[in-house]
Amino acid sequence: MGSQFVDKDYLVRCSQKTLQTNEKGFFLQFANHVAEVAGKNWIKNVFGKLKTDRERIRIIFEYKPVKDAICETLLHVQEIYRKKSAEVSQKRRLQAEELLQKKEYAKALILGSQSILRAPPTGENPKIDDGFTLALSFWTRSKILMELKKYSWALQDVQAATKEGLPDNLKAEVFSRMAVCYKGMGEHNRAKISFALAERMLEGNTTELNKMQEYKATEYKEEKEIDRRVLPNVSGSPHKEFSSATEKISLKEEKGMGRYVVAKEEINTGDTIVVEPPYAACLLPDSFSTHCHHCFERLVAPVGCPDCSNIAFCKAECRDIAVSTYHKYECHFLDLLIGSGMSILCHTALRMITQNPLKKCLEACNNQSEEEIFKLCANSNLRPPEDFFQRSIMAIFLLRSLQKGGYFEDSEANENVVPNEEELCIGELLLFYLQMLQFNAHEIYETRHETTHRFRTAKNGYIAVGVYPTVALFNHDCYPAVTR
Ligand SMILES: [Zn+2]
Ligand SMILES: [Zn+2]
Repeated sequence: MGSQFVDKDYLVRCSQKTLQTNEKGFFLQFANHVAEVAGKNWIKNVFGKLKTDRERIRIIFEYKPVKDAICETLLHVQEIYRKKSAEVSQKRRLQAEELLQKKEYAKALILGSQSILRAPPTGENPKIDDGFTLALSFWTRSKILMELKKYSWALQDVQAATKEGLPDNLKAEVFSRMAVCYKGMGEHNRAKISFALAERMLEGNTTELNKMQEYKATEYKEEKEIDRRVLPNVSGSPHKEFSSATEKISLKEEKGMGRYVVAKEEINTGDTIVVEPPYAACLLPDSFSTHCHHCFERLVAPVGCPDCSNIAFCKAECRDIAVSTYHKYECHFLDLLIGSGMSILCHTALRMITQNPLKKCLEACNNQSEEEIFKLCANSNLRPPEDFFQRSIMAIFLLRSLQKGGYFEDSEANENVVPNEEELCIGELLLFYLQMLQFNAHEIYETRHETTHRFRTAKNGYIAVGVYPTVALFNHDCYPAVTR
């Protein structure tokens, strides 16, 4: 979407939707209450006269009636998230095993995955499965994946189960499952070694050794999935200033139009104009159970966050990046954030903070003229005071979840809602991001095919939102000549 936005009426009507998407959420009620306390006059004549986001955030904690109304509610902000449950995990695993017996593998995979996502870390609940619920869930799912001929996924689960700790009597079967998986993946040497190890452990057990002979004689072949994630190159040479774009474009700037992209030379049908990673992107809550929280790939055999049961990852690598960066601050607050009814753009604003260390955000805040992201338009001169006020309250609500989520290391935030200097800076950034994202975020779609290679019946599924610094320079067009 472009940087131009002159229809002021439209701006007011649409703006509220970009903060709150769920009417039932508590945020709107909270914001309306604070606005009532502040009074129309104060919002219009005092708050409305302020020129910078810094002043807007600060005055909220300086004007006592507003400050008290905010603190009263935000003091009670607490963790709300979906916790692990060994009981539920065990139940799902047993259901998965039943379906496995009935050869209903697709259903079994769903329940097996749920059992993994709900399982607490190993040892946390010794009353159930002796504390090995997670290991046993991986173990069960590996068998399901083998039946589905997804041998490389199955191998990962066998390895995960072993890592979490399996009882000694399953050790021989670990090697025989690994052998079959390697064979299915075409890694015959590794398959041979694993078979040999299994056989050594089974010495004297004729029934099991016979089974092993059977496995060795059987052909296994992985059902190959198509790797859809191949990034194209931009057509022609890369642009000198915008390295993610083709040199076939150039950037113009005009009063009343802002910055916008035009074609510098002939662009042919099918040319690739920009290929760029998002500066920040967030998955829609509706897609939490079907797509990877980190890379938005569709889930096949998901792994979970070690702490919450809200989200899932396509593979361990995605999980490890997420839980060591942004997700550690968001984890315990996901249900609170979703329950507030806030829009995905608000979550993306929060992500723009949580994905970076505090130090980096503070630097960005102090060097706003240097940072590319701050050049994206926020239309602050067109925004009415009521909208600004509501957005500031959202920024402060998000700031509160950061305080409680441990983003600020030496914060007294648990006792004290009123932010210190560093926290005020982050509040200011959040307020800017909330404005900027309204005009610069893009929806992320996945193409859903009913059957393979049938493009005519393919549908676009809206799964996430992202902000792309170069793509954001393209003006919005209702009949665009480019596709995303
Ligand atoms: Zn992923
Ligand atoms: Zn989590």
